[in-house]
Amino acid sequence: MIPGVSFADAEHSFEDADYVIMGVPFDRTTSFRAGCRDGPHAVRKASYNFEMHLFEHGHDIGDLKVHDMGDLEDHVQVDHMVESAYIETSRIVDAGKFPITIGGEHSVTIPAVKAFGDGISVISVDAHTDFRQEYMGLGNSHACVMRRCADQVGEGNVAVIGARSISKEEEDAGLPFFVDSFSILDHGIEQAIDKVLDHIGNDRVYLTVDIDGVDPAFAPGTGTPEPFGITPYDVKKLMGAIGERMVGFDVVEVSPPYDNGSTAALAARLIREAMAVSRKE
Ligand code: MN
Ligand code: MN
Repeated sequence: MIPGVSFADAEHSFEDADYVIMGVPFDRTTSFRAGCRDGPHAVRKASYNFEMHLFEHGHDIGDLKVHDMGDLEDHVQVDHMVESAYIETSRIVDAGKFPITIGGEHSVTIPAVKAFGDGISVISVDAHTDFRQEYMGLGNSHACVMRRCADQVGEGNVAVIGARSISKEEEDAGLPFFVDSFSILDHGIEQAIDKVLDHIGNDRVYLTVDIDGVDPAFAPGTGTPEPFGITPYDVKKLMGAIGERMVGFDVVEVSPPYDNGSTAALAARLIREAMAVSRKE
């Protein structure tokens, strides 16, 4: 692990912490435009913007025990990143702590979910379903994340919220359970949350937020901006609905070279929200 500037208020040791943050600055399978390797640094910097007190939750982030492990070392091959991130996340999960991964591209979710075995459900906020068997010859590509999660926990335990960019080829190959962003814009996030929570079978939920799931007006700093997205407040409501069922969280695909600061700030705030709603204290 490579130490650096810590996430705000992450002042506890690994041993004492209930939440453990890890950055994975990896973007080598990124297809459109790279840059999310700088995500962990930008999100940590943005985390210093916020008050410790989350008044709507009635408690202080400062009361939670948080450790920041720093960044995973650089890897050229995605399979090596997956192996090494799996070892680190397993350390966190096996110690009964809540892992929070900052990407990096979406492939960083694969090892984080793998660390839990098959007893969880995985909900993804994403403009894409990421359900390809392989992409450009790589099974651990960012475009295959939900397929790899389904391999592990079963298709009945994966769901995507906010999808809106799906190729004919993907459609023909079979899609995961998803609620598209158009129906969310038409009918509200609540019905989407109900559908998704009805679909999944396991009580414990891992939430992954590919920031391109949020509309680019709110989150322009990402590799594949896709119009007609959901709002940051939709994501907040989803997180509130999952609440204490949430056992792990990541936010991925934040690409600082394309950001005006809003995207990194949103990602940092979502990390704080994940801690607030899951309430391990
Ligand atoms: Mn994705
Ligand atoms: Mn995406």
